[in-house]
Amino acid sequence: MHNVGEKPGKGKYCCTDCNWSVTLDDDDDRLPPCGNCGKGQDTTYQRC
Ligand SMILES: [Zn+2]
Repeated sequence: MHNVGEKPGKGKYCCTDCNWSVTLDDDDDRLPPCGNCGKGQDTTYQRC
């Protein structure tokens, strides 16, 4: 699992609470707060 602000690398990640997905296009991109459930810094993501 990855937290907001981490740079886990290119790929698609889904919020573990609501499954909202975000795609990181660059290895330097950071995971943003969830755009759906709005949990902010508490959001965690997993690859999906
Ligand atoms: Zn969410």
